[in-house]
Amino acid sequence: MQLNDLFSSVKYDEPMKNHTSFKVGGNADIFFEPENIRELVEFIKYVKENSIPYILMGNGTNMVVSDEGIRGAVIKLGDKMSAVEIIEDRLIAQCGAKLPEAAKIAACSSLSGMEFASGIPGSIGGALSMNAGAYGVEMKDIVEKVEVLDSNLEYRVLQNKEMEFGYRKSAVDKYGYTVLGCTLKLKRANKADIKMLMDEYSDRRQSKQPLNMPSAGSVFKRPEGYYAGKLIEDAGLRGYTIGGAQISEKHCGFIVNTGDAAAKDIYNLIKHIQRTVYERFGVKLETEIRLIGRFE
Ligand SMILES: Cc1cc2nc3c(=O)[nH]c(=O)nc-3n(C[C@H](O)[C@H](O)[C@H](O)COP(=O)(O)OP(=O)(O)OC[C@H]3O[C@@H](n4cnc5c(N)ncnc54)[C@H](O)[C@@H]3O)c2cc1C
Repeated sequence: MQLNDLFSSVKYDEPMKNHTSFKVGGNADIFFEPENIRELVEFIKYVKENSIPYILMGNGTNMVVSDEGIRGAVIKLGDKMSAVEIIEDRLIAQCGAKLPEAAKIAACSSLSGMEFASGIPGSIGGALSMNAGAYGVEMKDIVEKVEVLDSNLEYRVLQNKEMEFGYRKSAVDKYGYTVLGCTLKLKRANKADIKMLMDEYSDRRQSKQPLNMPSAGSVFKRPEGYYAGKLIEDAGLRGYTIGGAQISEKHCGFIVNTGDAAAKDIYNLIKHIQRTVYERFGVKLETEIRLIGRFE
């Protein structure tokens, strides 16, 4: 029995550049977007039983996929599992819901707490996995509980503490959880005030970030006591280019795809930045974005 006899939406040799914000990456052998939790569980069971490796993705806004693509299966948790519901002062979202949309729904319901997330283009699942944050607020500050499948495909509800949130990390990677959804605890506030804060954050992003070019946001984590973008700028690397990958002229913490970048260009540029910043300032820059597949 073939995989697509069992799961109708399975695609083969799917170009990952169509699914990532960097717009690079070779083909995934198998690409699957489940309609619901039942299909997701059945698919994971199937690939496990058949020793097919798999990775999860949300909106692909924090990853660089290798030009060689991905051997095995990619499970995209996206629009098909993206319901959002408000119950009193809580926002309940499925893993595929996008942060900007969820933030808008919260704002329309006069609920404050998600303003910081309104310009982060990821999914709820990706944001919980990364503990995404901006302007001094992170997912950990608003999460009440998270529904996951554990590595044995058991359904579990984790309380905030059990997510072990840290700077751009959580228990999701450590224990191999699949995030299904979450409940966020928000606060009642004036709709106009919420909207004003969202507009202010949006203006700040528009003026500081290269939002008109493909990227995956900040490439590096913030090293203690420094800002990655400032170190890169001070190392004289603004605008430095390898192939189609460029250190953004607008924000040195971003790498942008100028049009025809290969994933290898981005990878080589990351290595060049890490080497140069270390030589100049003795600071090791660690990537925030995830490198998926083979680069060496
Ligand atoms: C222009 C721009 C601005 C950005 N600004 C910010 C910012 O201000 N702050 C910030 O923190 N980030 C920012 N980012 C990065 C990115 O949007 C966030 O990290 C976001 O949370 C990633 O979500 P995603 O759905 O795209 O994840 P993906 O890139 O699809 O995946 C990221 C990781 O999460 C895992 N994952 C995804 N979904 C699930 C799931 N359901 N269960 C388990 N694991 C899962 C994946 O396996 C992968 O390891 C920005 C990106 C861009 C392009």
